[in-house]
Amino acid sequence: MSAGEESKSAPDTLLSLDKAGLAEHVVALGGKPFHGRIAREQVLKHGVTDYAAMTSLPATLREALAAELPILSSREVDRSVARDATTKLLLGFPRGGGVEATIETVHIPPSSPKSTKGATLCVSSQVGCPVACPFCASGRLGLVRNLAAHEILEQYVRGRALGDLSRSVVMGIGEPLLNFENLTTALDAVHDEMGLGTRRITVSTVGFPDRLRRAAESRPRFQLAISLHTPFDDQRDELVPAMKGTPIADVIAAADHWFDVTGREVTYEYVLLGGDNDSVDHARALADRLWGKRCTVNLIPYNPVEGDTYRRPHAEDVDSFRQFLDDAGTVATIRWSRGLEGDAACGQLRVRHA
Ligand code: SF4
Repeated sequence: MSAGEESKSAPDTLLSLDKAGLAEHVVALGGKPFHGRIAREQVLKHGVTDYAAMTSLPATLREALAAELPILSSREVDRSVARDATTKLLLGFPRGGGVEATIETVHIPPSSPKSTKGATLCVSSQVGCPVACPFCASGRLGLVRNLAAHEILEQYVRGRALGDLSRSVVMGIGEPLLNFENLTTALDAVHDEMGLGTRRITVSTVGFPDRLRRAAESRPRFQLAISLHTPFDDQRDELVPAMKGTPIADVIAAADHWFDVTGREVTYEYVLLGGDNDSVDHARALADRLWGKRCTVNLIPYNPVEGDTYRRPHAEDVDSFRQFLDDAGTVATIRWSRGLEGDAACGQLRVRHA
């Protein structure tokens, strides 16, 4: 069943209706067309998720809306909170036939309690993921379906209920470029109606070259991150199976095109798997691939997932890898994952429930 068929089987919500549909719905309940715009604004701009608190609407309309048109379609299935207050939500969306589709959304507060910045929200773009990276819990369960635009947007509403947001990364479950239309519809609303600027939204992809080129041409309102994970083609075929046969050089050429068209630097994500891709040879080959490019490499030491064969790298190997890139003129930063004890790796909470 396609994403469209899935979402059609679900009942309407305030966020799933377009402007005309919402106005029509509100009028049918005795309101004026502009009441629909006010209600949506209350949710997206002001974070209100209860009609009773929308006091700028007539009381009778608030009651009718509360009875007829839910604001959100998801339910919180589970929540996992780490010691540093990183909160992972397992959200369930209706899927028809009484089945529920689950995804994860992670709210990561600033690392220092004194920080005046808001949190970072990590959102999912698909239910499950077809890319099937062997080190990723989400890849193990395969793809169930695309998320509808309002289901992506809803994650932001739920995330903001946990605290102000200053950044967002689309790095949760799924491959964003395979659900690009729905994703950009949602991100446009995040940008225009929730006020998160282009530089504060990052979309992370494994980098299908043709799709990446089209994305660059589509006036994207986000930053780009590409999950590379290795500089060697044969190893990438293993680590990112959906990209099998696509040379890394083609991915990097498409990333260069992105930079040329948008003027925004690309970030390369590199999950460091202890003993697999954290050697000096890997660092040297990666530096060669990226030599002379304006980009950054984010090194992400792997979070072990129950039952797999990959290991967390030694801290000294992580430092040496970063230092090697640095010496070769490639900017690299290390991103130790936050909230390690709370089912922190992508997809772990979902896999536990499955
Ligand atoms: S790491 Fe990302 S692309 Fe790979 S299977 Fe997991 S969610 Fe999909």
